Amino acid sequence: MKLNIDQQHIWHPYSSTINPSPVYGVTSANGVYLNLQDGRQVIDGMSSWWCMLHGYNHPKLNQAIIDQTHKMAHVMFGGLTHEPAINLTEKLITLTPAPLQHVFYADSGSVAVEVALKMAIQFWQAQGLNKKKRILSHSRGYHGDTFGAMSVCDPVTGMHHLFADALMPQHFAEAPQCGFDEPWDDHYCDSIRQQLSEHHHELAAIIIEPIVQAAGGMRFYSPHYLKALRQLCDEFNVLLIVDEIATNFGRTGELFGVNHADISPDIMCLGKALTGGYMTLAATMCTAHIAQTICNGEAKALMHGPTFMANPLACAVANASIELLLDSPWQQWIQAIAAQLTRELAECLEWPHVASVRVLGAIGVIELKEPVDLATIQPLFVEQGVWIRPFGKLVYIMPPFIISPTELSNLTLGMKQVIKALA
Ligand code: PMP
Repeated sequence: MKLNIDQQHIWHPYSSTINPSPVYGVTSANGVYLNLQDGRQVIDGMSSWWCMLHGYNHPKLNQAIIDQTHKMAHVMFGGLTHEPAINLTEKLITLTPAPLQHVFYADSGSVAVEVALKMAIQFWQAQGLNKKKRILSHSRGYHGDTFGAMSVCDPVTGMHHLFADALMPQHFAEAPQCGFDEPWDDHYCDSIRQQLSEHHHELAAIIIEPIVQAAGGMRFYSPHYLKALRQLCDEFNVLLIVDEIATNFGRTGELFGVNHADISPDIMCLGKALTGGYMTLAATMCTAHIAQTICNGEAKALMHGPTFMANPLACAVANASIELLLDSPWQQWIQAIAAQLTRELAECLEWPHVASVRVLGAIGVIELKEPVDLATIQPLFVEQGVWIRPFGKLVYIMPPFIISPTELSNLTLGMKQVIKALA
C-alpha cells in the first residue's frame, strides 16, 4: 500500500496536508477485527464511527450486495423506483413511530439533516408563514458538516466556528442538563422555554440528537427532556426534528433514541448504522401532515433530489442489516455489553486524571480532565490491539453488537492500559 501517496495527496477527516497525521493501512476486516497492513490486528472499538453493528465481512450483508449487484447496482430515482427502496421504506415506516409516513433517501447524514431543515422551512412557507425559517438547536449539539447542518451545530465546540459569519444565524438553548437517570425537574426546560417564547414567530423547528449528544461531547440526557420538548413544540407551534443518525438501530438500548421517551417527532433523520455500516445511506422521514402541507405549497414538491438517492445496493444492504438485527437478540446483547462496560470501566473513576465514566447501551465513555494528544495516543492504542479514536477529553468506545465478552474485555483492557499510563 503506497501510504506516501495517501499522505501527500489525500484529505482525511479534519486533516492537514502540511503536517498529515499518520494513517494506518487496513487491508481487510472481519468480525470485530481490522487487519492492518503491517500484519497487526486491532479490535474496532468505534464500529467505524457508530455504523458496523454486525461486524465486518458478514456473509449475509456481503450476499445482499452481491445479489443486488447482479440485478442492478444503481438506477436514477427520478421517475423510476425499485424493490430494495420499497422494501426498506416498508420497514422504516413499520419500525419508527407511527405518524412518520414519508421517507426521503439521501446519501449521508449531513444531507439528511439538510433535507430535514428544508422540509421544516417549506412546511411553514406553504402556509404563508415565511418568517418561520430559523432553527432552534442546542449547545453541544452536532448535526453534520454541510452548511445548513453546520449552522445548527454548537457554535463553539461544533468544529465550525471558522464559518460562523457565513452560516445561517440560528438560535441555541443550553444543552440538556438532566442526566439520563437523574430525577427530572421542570426547571431543566427553562432555557429552551425562554428561547421558544422569545423566538417562536421565526422558528421553523427545534433540532436535537435524542438521548445522546454524540460528537458534541458524548453526553447522555434524560428522556424527560425529549418528552418536554415534544410538548413545548406543540405549545409554541414549532416542528420537532430528531437527529437519530448516531443513535438509530439499537445503540442506546432502544431501537431509536425517541423510544426511551415514547414520543414521535415531526421529522426524523436516520443514517450511519442504517446499512449496518456497509454503504453510505441516510433517510429523512416526516409525518403525512408535513408532506401534504409541503406538497400543497407553492412548489407543489419537496425541493431536493440527489443523484444517488435510494441507491439500490445501499437499500439492499440496509434491508439485510435490519433483518439481521431484528432476528437477533439485540436487546440482550446491548444489555450485556452495557453491564460489562459498567463493570470493567468503573475502576477508571478512581484515577486522578479521569473526570467521569459513563455507560449507556453499547456506549462507554471515559472523560479525562485534560484533552488527549491524538498523535501520541493513537499508536498506543494500536500497540494494545485496539482501535479507539478519542476527541478532546473524550475516550469512548461503541463496539459492534456482535462483540464477544472476551473481545470486549480485551477492548476495555487496551483502553484502560493506555489511559492509566497517561496519569
Ligand atoms: N448527525 C449526527 C448526530 C451525527 O453524529 C453525524 C455524524 N457524526 C451527522 C449528523 C452527520 O453524518 P455524516 O457524517 O454521515 O454526514
